[in-house]
Amino acid sequence: PDEPALEALQHADVARLLPVPGAESDKYRRGVVGIAAGSARYPGAAVLAVSGALRGGAGAVRYVGPAGDAVIARFPETLVSDQGPKKAGRVQAWVVGPGAGDDAATVAEVLAADVPVLIDADGLRLADVAAVRARTAPTLMTPHAGEAAALLGVAREEVESARLSSVRELAGRYGATVLLKGSTTLVAGSVGGAVRVNATGTSWLATAGSGDVLSGLTGSLLAAGLSASDAGSVGAYLHGLAGRLAADGAPVGAHDVAEAVVRAWRDVR
Ligand code: AMP
Ligand code: MG
Repeated sequence: PDEPALEALQHADVARLLPVPGAESDKYRRGVVGIAAGSARYPGAAVLAVSGALRGGAGAVRYVGPAGDAVIARFPETLVSDQGPKKAGRVQAWVVGPGAGDDAATVAEVLAADVPVLIDADGLRLADVAAVRARTAPTLMTPHAGEAAALLGVAREEVESARLSSVRELAGRYGATVLLKGSTTLVAGSVGGAVRVNATGTSWLATAGSGDVLSGLTGSLLAAGLSASDAGSVGAYLHGLAGRLAADGAPVGAHDVAEAVVRAWRDVR
């Protein structure tokens, strides 16, 4: 069979897809993104995922988990709850997993929600394949090569040397859209077809917490109504560009990348 085409979103495609609120919009119409992330051990992952989500275009960010105090201290606009996802109130898309440790119950609860879900980091390990396959709302998984290798039961090098077939294989296995991170980012849908590639990033993005910002940012785009494939590719595009703008040839922390998303957004528009 023919290899599927690789396609790259252009500046103009991304500009067209950005969720810009209409004159009569309100925060609920813009979308509420729920972030189920962080743990006593990794509260920072929650803060970073929220920081990305606040810059992604949703009208409100809801956080559930044990890091609510840390989140509120940094981002007072966040709606914080210490109840589980089921009791969190209105959410149009969930992000689950960054810094989540071993909280499998929260992952299962989020997967049972009938709204788009982005699964990252610890959530990938905790997500049951059958539960993901049973979902009818869109699912977007965002592994790096190591996480993808663990899911496929192969060595990391195998994924790194066969990124295109690996991302397609995972998407088929889980019946989900899969975004494979790395020096370039690949986004594959569950039913085959062209794989989207993004190369706006920079190796300065290889820094702790960088992926947590991407997951929040991309989850926000899902909540605003983009498809899993569009949210993943627009998220990767903005995140990569933000990394470039923030770094500009020097080291940055993940929080700097989140702050630069607004500049990337303006640059695209
Ligand atoms: P994570 O490993 O989950 O923290 O995610 C790392 C983020 O940084 C992803 O968005 C990667 O695509 C990006 N990234 C990591 N290494 C590089 C690299 N060498 N060049 C460009 N982007 C990178
Ligand atoms: Mg990560």
